[in-house]
Amino acid sequence: MNLRLEDTTPIECEKCKGQLFREVTLIRRASRFVTNMPQDSMVPIPVFACHKCDHVNDEFLPPQLRSDYIEIVE
Ligand SMILES: [Zn+2]
Repeated sequence: MNLRLEDTTPIECEKCKGQLFREVTLIRRASRFVTNMPQDSMVPIPVFACHKCDHVNDEFLPPQLRSDYIEIVE
């Protein structure tokens, strides 16, 4: 990918307008009845959380999970 950084735009935290993020991990449980494995499995999903206020922007979440996600840090 030949991308010029000056052609990019910053992504801000929806809450505090911060521009620094760190990677955190959402973990989903996959039932053994769905996966046909002998036991439930865990599915780690990397998302980005605001470095300052811990908010996770909607756009960082997989669309299927947005309604599931409950913000714990308020
Ligand atoms: Zn923030």
